[in-house]
Amino acid sequence: MSNPTNFIDLYVEVRENVMDSLDLAELSLFASANSVLHSAVEKYIQRRRLIIFALFINNPQEFIGILQITDSVISGSAALNIVQARQGAVEINDLDVYTTLANFGDLIRFFTDKEHYKIVGDFHRPPPGPYNNTGIAKVFRLKKKERKIDIIVTHLTAAASLIFQFHNTIVMNFISAEAVFCAYPGWTLNMLGLVHPRMYKQNGTNLSTIKALAKYMKRGFSLYSDIAELGPHDSQCIKTYYCPQITRSTNDKGKVAWVFNRTGRESGTVGSVMHIDKSAIVWCLGGDQCADETYAGSPSFVFAT
Ligand SMILES: [Zn+2]
Repeated sequence: MSNPTNFIDLYVEVRENVMDSLDLAELSLFASANSVLHSAVEKYIQRRRLIIFALFINNPQEFIGILQITDSVISGSAALNIVQARQGAVEINDLDVYTTLANFGDLIRFFTDKEHYKIVGDFHRPPPGPYNNTGIAKVFRLKKKERKIDIIVTHLTAAASLIFQFHNTIVMNFISAEAVFCAYPGWTLNMLGLVHPRMYKQNGTNLSTIKALAKYMKRGFSLYSDIAELGPHDSQCIKTYYCPQITRSTNDKGKVAWVFNRTGRESGTVGSVMHIDKSAIVWCLGGDQCADETYAGSPSFVFAT
């Protein structure tokens, strides 16, 4: 393809096939070539999101509106699927919706009243304290025939914060009303993951965390507990986005994010996006691992701006 606009002249099936072989990072690069490709990729990712939501929801467009109003996000296998190339992407087994104490009522009403799901589980965690920093206030399990949805409610102000605090690996992705987000694209898209240092530093290990790790391995991920096994980690490590000691933000350049309804040329100021332009979630994996001893031994944290 010497001229990228020729791509548009290809038959729809061929075009779809090409895009089906690209992951989110590759699609973003492809889209950056010109505005014609940008709009082709925009339509493709929009459609993929609708197809994923339609597995669980009769009215996916209305659901996107609910995500917007409640500032809720989707993580888990659905978010991993959409950041991967469609060819060979992980199977989507359930829908994990993250929301806040202020907004979970609206989500529950949407699923029960409009989508006819039934609440089959209602779990309440102990209130947050020095030994419970999971940030989870409640979990609701909903079911409709074979379809399962978990609504994970946080007492934190931003629902997406939970992904950076609660996930046991650095496979940290989400789908929101406004964007598709991947925090560690270099590893996630190569099916590599680092076990969150919090798991052994802050005694976060229990049966459910082991199960969560096993789930990723079943999906084909290689998980590591030692950063050095994942790549060179020399004295320059603090300058990379992959050092556990670095303070990351959903706004930084280490991520890959597709922001919907934005033309290729727009900067961040027009139509700014939650968690990416107009606010951010800031996190540090922490732990002991870093070649530079000045930075070693820091706690893991997350907060939203
Ligand atoms: Zn480091």
